[in-house]
Amino acid sequence: MNLMQEKNLEIRKSLSSSLGGTVVKALEANGFKALYVATAAEAVKAVLDLVPKGSSVGVPGTSTIRELGLPGELESRGCKIFQHWDPSLAPEDRPKRWEDEIASDVYLTSSNGVTMDGMLVNIDGTGNRVAGMAWAKKRIIFVVGINKVSRDVQSSLQRIRDVATPVNALRLGMDLPCTKVGHCVDCKSPQRACRAVLILERAPFGRDAHVIIVGENLGY
Ligand code: SF4
Repeated sequence: MNLMQEKNLEIRKSLSSSLGGTVVKALEANGFKALYVATAAEAVKAVLDLVPKGSSVGVPGTSTIRELGLPGELESRGCKIFQHWDPSLAPEDRPKRWEDEIASDVYLTSSNGVTMDGMLVNIDGTGNRVAGMAWAKKRIIFVVGINKVSRDVQSSLQRIRDVATPVNALRLGMDLPCTKVGHCVDCKSPQRACRAVLILERAPFGRDAHVIIVGENLGY
């Protein structure tokens, strides 16, 4: 790394820390238990501290959690992981697995977006992921990279449609207009990925909802 790259990295770290602190305060004001950590490694430790050994953990469709290697880490600590992304899972067994994810002791996911005023914004296709964010029964943990912070709900929805969804659709091999032009065109495609929007304006009643904001880019 040359001197300019080092200086730019330091600047980005400092700004991420300031922005992360702002978002954490806003999340706390909205009833979430929130924490800022600078690195992915610190995020892994923070999650492991929140998941009791031997508990069941539901992991819906999330690149962030898998980038962090958390399913394997948790399994090695005796946790039972429920995830429908298991390639050995037969399609007819998927609905039961979605239910197992939501019924787990811990629901571990990311969020497509987080706003500077402390709301979590998500768009889903099947609906299982947003259902778990609102309705998982006990502890819900969101791990969110700093790249997913937007000023408000509208700009967050726009970022999800223009940035996150085309990448995710390409990853899943979906044939959608946004994967060809690189941004959302509010398509009428029968395969349209954007079907259910969830905005958590406050932490859901009766749940133990944690948000870990990470000062690195994670997921998309
Ligand atoms: S509405 Fe259609 S074009 Fe827009 S992001 Fe969703 S799937 Fe892509």
